[in-house]
Amino acid sequence: MKRCSLSAALLAVLALPAFTVQAYDYQLKPQAIADGVQVLVGRTENFSRENGGNIVNTGFIIGRDGVIVIDTGPSKAYGEQQRATIAKLSKLPVVQIYLTHAHPDHVLGNQAYAGVPIAALPGTTRALTINGDALLSNLYRLAGDAMLGTELRLPTVEAKSGEVSIAGRRLRLIPGLGHTDADLMVFDEATQTLFTGDLVFFQRTLTTPNADIPHWLATLDAIDAIDFKVMVPGHGPVLRDHAGIAQTRDYLKWLRDSLQGAARRGLDMPEVLQLAIPERFQRLAVLHTEYERSVAHLYPAYELETLPTVPKSRPQ
Ligand SMILES: [Zn+2]
Repeated sequence: MKRCSLSAALLAVLALPAFTVQAYDYQLKPQAIADGVQVLVGRTENFSRENGGNIVNTGFIIGRDGVIVIDTGPSKAYGEQQRATIAKLSKLPVVQIYLTHAHPDHVLGNQAYAGVPIAALPGTTRALTINGDALLSNLYRLAGDAMLGTELRLPTVEAKSGEVSIAGRRLRLIPGLGHTDADLMVFDEATQTLFTGDLVFFQRTLTTPNADIPHWLATLDAIDAIDFKVMVPGHGPVLRDHAGIAQTRDYLKWLRDSLQGAARRGLDMPEVLQLAIPERFQRLAVLHTEYERSVAHLYPAYELETLPTVPKSRPQ
């Protein structure tokens, strides 16, 4: 009798449906910002399990014959949901992807676009080839289950500087550098919308793991000269003015001057972390975390600059 009820219990367990993991729901809500131009605005936060890595802005342009996507987001699930969002707005096929740079929140949705050309600057492809797997595992650690099934997919074609005509839309591909050593901007001529990637941050503190501040500042001057009407920064709200450029420049200059000054005064890293941050930056999201990361990334080089150079020994 006992054996019989045990077998019945076992059979009941075996009859349960197989355990399935629900894909993380990013609840993407497209925002129309110009004729045929849509953005998916991410949260101005750090990567977390709660946001599934969605701290990034991605966008798409619906042309006459197809759709062009700018950045694919932080995971396979994001890429698939981005594609599903596009399909709700247009029956046209996605014909081209542009990746702005080699940071994981911008490129790990590539898997959702098998067969679609994925274009990036050569420096972006190089960086992803070298560091992509490390970036991927880091995001698994930070964003958790939302990353399930995500694998690195490298760009398939080279983005070349200049004008291109795709899906009946004229685009200008503008290379820059400074946030990384290969930052691609995409300018839609019809609406004068500029996708800057992470060359511009707005209302969220910028990140510097691969930054070169002098190059970044020079690129910001070049962006200032572009005749745009709408700007999609890599992180933060969409702009219709130059405020994002000004804010990014202001913070970079302060960071440079502050770290340079600290190195000249001989401060060590824990002391630099205690330095006061100006009031005007206090409203930026994730200020303290990103400041700490930037000190770790950038301060050693400023310290090196202040070291006395060793005179070459003369032959006796
Ligand atoms: Zn970035």
